[in-house]
Amino acid sequence: MITGASQGIGRACALALAEAGADVALASRNADKLAAVAQEVEQFGVKSLVMSLDVAQPESVKEGFARILEAWERIEVLVNNAGITKDNLLMRMKVEDWDTVLRTNLDGAFHCIRAVLPGMVRQRSGRIVNITSVVAQAGNAGQSNYIASKAGLIGLTKAVAAEVGSRNITVNAVAPGFIDTAMTAHLPDAIKNRILSMVPLNRMGTDRDVALAVRFLVTDEASYITGHCLNVNGGMFMA
Ligand code: NAP
Repeated sequence: MITGASQGIGRACALALAEAGADVALASRNADKLAAVAQEVEQFGVKSLVMSLDVAQPESVKEGFARILEAWERIEVLVNNAGITKDNLLMRMKVEDWDTVLRTNLDGAFHCIRAVLPGMVRQRSGRIVNITSVVAQAGNAGQSNYIASKAGLIGLTKAVAAEVGSRNITVNAVAPGFIDTAMTAHLPDAIKNRILSMVPLNRMGTDRDVALAVRFLVTDEASYITGHCLNVNGGMFMA
């Protein structure tokens, strides 16, 4: 189950997991875009399910996950990837922009985890991966709402990992750096070049770079890794 699967990193996660043989449920608000990703996913010979939902709305998440569980009975993996930015300096930030980003990026993951955990506890297995960001570790001017949400996700990851480890459920975070997606496409070249100058590997990351890290964390090979935040940032920040 991948949220924010209609494009970018979420779509890449869907394709990487399908490539490894997983049936994939795709969620976001835009059903048409999800349907196009579903077609790509099915080219790997796996099943897909499209779920139009808004992670910021608890009822929408509850209904959407219930429909998936009706169709498939169990969810093995949850990737909390849905995320937005509404950047501004704190002194100019509107309360609604603070709220919308926190409700989507942080509360959204909370609602989705609440929806999958009972099943994972019953089946005594599960993998949860939360997509955070390099800026949650390094800080950045103009993104206090986004950074608060993404730092919150790292804390949430550790807290839930401690709660459900005894049920054979791992909970980890992946912190992408500067990735070439719609979220970064609008940045002016001067800013892109400034960020790139801080990346030792000297290129933007791809959505697949992030997806392969997510895929690793949900494999059996990663079964003793939990509460961890895995950086996929080209060396931009070394924690
Ligand atoms: P993106 O291309 O803008 O995709 C964001 C996805 O989130 C879309 O599929 C969008 O789908 C979905 N989404 C947004 N609000 C939603 C909501 N309320 N309910 C359900 N789905 C929602 O961004 P991306 O670059 O792939 O980013 C994916 C994740 O990686 C985000 O959490 C982002 O913060 C994180 N990240 C990105 C970068 C980067 O450089 N790109 C770096 C660090 C972290 P709909 O519009 O269809 O709902």
